[in-house]
Amino acid sequence: MSSTTLRRVVVVGGGIAGLTACETLRERGFDGELVVVGSESHAAYSRPALSKALLKLDGDLSAHELAPATHGAREVRGVSAIGVDADRRTITLDDGTELPFDGLVIASGSRARRLSDHPGELTLRGLDDAHALRDRLADQPDVVVLGGGVLGMEIASGAVTAGCRVTLIATSPPMSRQLGAHVSGILTESATAQGLHIVVTDTATVDADGDRAVVRTGDGRVFGADALISAVGDLPNTEWLSSSGLLRDGHLRTDDRGLVAPGIVAAGDVARWGRDGVRTPLWTSAIEQAKAAASALLDAEAPELRFQNYFWTEQFGHSLKAVGPLPVQGAPEVLIGEPDATPALLRWQGRRRIRSVIAIDHRIPIPRLRRLTDPASD
Ligand SMILES: Cc1cc2nc3c(=O)[nH]c(=O)nc-3n(C[C@H](O)[C@H](O)[C@H](O)COP(=O)(O)OP(=O)(O)OC[C@H]3O[C@@H](n4cnc5c(N)ncnc54)[C@H](O)[C@@H]3O)c2cc1C
Repeated sequence: MSSTTLRRVVVVGGGIAGLTACETLRERGFDGELVVVGSESHAAYSRPALSKALLKLDGDLSAHELAPATHGAREVRGVSAIGVDADRRTITLDDGTELPFDGLVIASGSRARRLSDHPGELTLRGLDDAHALRDRLADQPDVVVLGGGVLGMEIASGAVTAGCRVTLIATSPPMSRQLGAHVSGILTESATAQGLHIVVTDTATVDADGDRAVVRTGDGRVFGADALISAVGDLPNTEWLSSSGLLRDGHLRTDDRGLVAPGIVAAGDVARWGRDGVRTPLWTSAIEQAKAAASALLDAEAPELRFQNYFWTEQFGHSLKAVGPLPVQGAPEVLIGEPDATPALLRWQGRRRIRSVIAIDHRIPIPRLRRLTDPASD
C-alpha cells in the first residue's frame, strides 16, 4: 500500500516505539488520521528512569517525563488491543470497539517475566511498579533481588542506597552474560564493597512460604525477605496477535525495515528485527526501529536500518555506556585507564571487524564512543 492510500494509521502501544513512530510519520508528511492505543493510562515516559532516578528516595520524581508529544494523534489510553484481522484491516479492542486501519504499527513492547504467580513476587516494568517499589523501599525492608542482569543490579543499587539489606541471587556472576567477566568483576566488586550480598547458584525458583514468596536455590537454600523483586528478563507482548497470521513460530518477525506484512510494521521490544531475527530490548533500539518502521510504512523505498546497539546503566555510583555487539568475551583492550579500575574505556574485538566499546565512569560523548567501534577510525 502506498502512502497516498494511507488515510488512517493505528499504532498499538503507547511506549517509546509507538511515540517515535507517530512523530516520524508526521515528520515524513503523513497528515491522515493517527490513533494510538495503549494499555497504560500514562502518556509515554522514560522506562529507563524507573530503575534509576525513580528508585532513589531523594531522586528526581519527574525524571521519567518526556517532552509533550507533538504528533496530534488521538490517544486511547487504558485500553488494550486483543486481536487484529489483517485481511479486514481491523483491530479489536478490549472495550469491545473495532478500529479500522490502512496502516498498522505494532509497538506493544514486552512485560516482565515472572517465575510464579505469587503476589509477593514483585517486578519492575511500568511507572506504577516503580512508584509502588519506591514506597516499599522507604520502609527499608530486607530485600531479595532475583536476577543478576543489568536491571537486577540497578534495583539492588536503589535498594542498597535506600538503606535496605539486600541479597541478589543470580545464576551467573552479575551482568557477566551481557557485559562479560571483566566488567562484571569491576562492578560487582564495587557493589559488594557497598554492602550488596551476592549469591551465585545453578538454579533458582520462586515458591510460596505461607503468604510470603521465597527463592529456593538448586543447592537447597531458601531465601526469604520482606520484599522479593524478580528481574529475570522480559516477554514480548504478542498474545493479542496469536490468531492474526502475523506471527511466525510464535514470534513477530520483521524485515530490516520493520515490515511484517503489507501495510503492517513493528518496532521495539515486541519485534524480532531484521535478518538476524533477534529482539533487542533497549531504549535506543526501540527508537531507531520505530523511525525505520514508520518510514517503511510510508515509503516502499525507505532504507534498511543500520544501527549499532547502544545502552547505558547507572548503579552503585557508577555509570556505564556500551556500544556494539554484546556480550563481549575475553580480556579487553584498555584504551584509557587501568585494567581493573574506573574511569576506564575498554574495547573488545568482535565478529566481522565490528567492535564493542564500554566506557565506565567516563564522560566520552556517545558519537565518539561509536567511532571507536570502527577499525577505520584508528
Ligand atoms: C526498569 C527498566 C529499565 C530499563 N533501563 C534501560 C536502560 O538503562 N537502557 C536501555 O537501553 N534500555 C532500558 N530498558 C529497556 C527499554 O526501556 C525498552 O527497550 C523500551 O522501553 C522499549 O520500548 P517499546 O515502546 O518497544 O515497549 P514498551 O516500553 O514496553 O511499551 C509498550 C507499550 O505497549 C503497551 N501494550 C502492550 N500490549 C498492548 C496491547 N495489546 N494493546 C495496547 N497497548 C499495549 C504496554 O502497556 C506499553 O505501554 C529498561 C527497561 C525497564 C523495564
